[in-house]
Amino acid sequence: MPAEDVYPAIEQFIDGRWVDGDADTSEQVLDPATAEVVAVYPHVGAGQLDHALTAVSRSARSWRDTPPASRSGLLREAARLLRRRADRIAFAVSREQGKPLHEARAEVHVSADVIDWCAEEGRRTYGRIVPSDSDSRLMVTTEPVGPVAAFTPWNFPVLTVARKVGPALAAGCPIIVKASEETPAGAMAVVSAFADAGAPPGVVNLVFGVPAEISEHLLSASVVRKLSLTGSVRVGRTLSRLAAEHDIRTTMELGGNAPVIVEPDIDVDEVALRCATSKFRNAGQVCNSPSRFFVHEAVHDRFVAAVERFVGDIRLGAGTAADTTMGPLANARRVEYVRKALADALDRDAQLVCGGGIPGGAGNFVEPTVLTEVDESSTVFAEEIFGPIMPIVRYDDLDDVITRANATTYGLASFVFTESLAKAHRMARELEAGMVGVNTTVVSRAEMPFGGIKASGHGFESGPEGVDAYLRRKAVLEHDPASPGRGVSH
Ligand code: NAD
Repeated sequence: MPAEDVYPAIEQFIDGRWVDGDADTSEQVLDPATAEVVAVYPHVGAGQLDHALTAVSRSARSWRDTPPASRSGLLREAARLLRRRADRIAFAVSREQGKPLHEARAEVHVSADVIDWCAEEGRRTYGRIVPSDSDSRLMVTTEPVGPVAAFTPWNFPVLTVARKVGPALAAGCPIIVKASEETPAGAMAVVSAFADAGAPPGVVNLVFGVPAEISEHLLSASVVRKLSLTGSVRVGRTLSRLAAEHDIRTTMELGGNAPVIVEPDIDVDEVALRCATSKFRNAGQVCNSPSRFFVHEAVHDRFVAAVERFVGDIRLGAGTAADTTMGPLANARRVEYVRKALADALDRDAQLVCGGGIPGGAGNFVEPTVLTEVDESSTVFAEEIFGPIMPIVRYDDLDDVITRANATTYGLASFVFTESLAKAHRMARELEAGMVGVNTTVVSRAEMPFGGIKASGHGFESGPEGVDAYLRRKAVLEHDPASPGRGVSH
């Protein structure tokens, strides 16, 4: 077996050391393709969480005062290590999460790009000087917000951690990450890269355990100043309430249910290919995945036929197998959800174009599935499906389709395909989403803000906004001691 085909032993990283959890409870990591147990590890204990809190509290000042250029060097080295280790990390991620190796490898490289971006942006956390009278100076300075608690999901176990550790450290904040217990190796790989790059003890910490106990413990200790969650709307609401009780500012990167509007003026075969490629990536378990397909009546049938051809070529299998192009779902809960959603859509007279099979057995496999004539109130359309089901509906009027696209509580991404500049501008303005892709399904780039509105959350990751999320402003108003204006206030 090549050296990289090894799943690591799972440990917690606290105050600069890898340690076993010391709680009485434990976790099994399952291979979603086989249900084989690939690791068992003990949860973090309460004393260990206190240790992590002491560590971030202690290191907050020294990390804040570390020159941005030195912090930048550390981030660059962490990014370099991630890239160098990409094959080994990809194997572990594929094993624990199910995605094909090439997708896992791409995730590692994108994560390194994000960290490199933060390495540069952390050196540009400028304040400003406000013009004033000659005997006073008005300044707005930036400071790191302080210790961070971050919570990340299982669908992108490397990227979602990199998107929090990178900007937090770049901005001068120490961090405790509670990553998904189901995909711990991806998170460990990011934290290892930072540790091996020379992060001082306490600046980055990683724990796995009972999520609700960890968040309660970390947020109630009067240490954490910022909470960042990538996860579901449900958990977002829970953690928002908890953060509010403890006066902790938040960034919420939550679920989505992105509409895609396909106008008739485009190359329909090409657009169908791009839409399907994006829809079935990571078996549909992508928060900004194109999810609700509104295709103009004039090109609907041709679009569906092109998607069906694409789906016919998908090779479903274990992510670690070289020829797999779509893996299993990450856990059995998702299979159940998808099974019910599919049944609900078919009950409401959706037409099954292809797929629909759920093989059963040990693996969490669901066939890539295409549905047409879908009732827009059915679960596959109205809720975040997070699975390989592509529901397609028709429209013939732009006003009507914009209204239908916005008829959702979510607002993460939306996509538009048209050659008309005027229509593109109009839809970019009117679609209710944090991000709009025009003639592209890619809305996630290191240099661009990524985030949602409505139930999809608030705040951004990536881009300058991603680093800014870990900074606070301070207004400094100086006056010459002897000048007449001294002490004047209003
Ligand atoms: P989840 O909300 O169940 O879990 C997210 C994280 O929160 C995990 O680490 C989980 O253990 C933890 N958690 C759960 N309950 C908690 C509690 N009470 N206290 C503290 N932590 C708790 O989400 P998931 O099922 O892991 O991931 C899928 C969801 O994530 C989807 O809704 C997806 O859209 C969303 N997501 C959003 C983005 C984005 O950038 N907007 C990116 C990826 C995934």
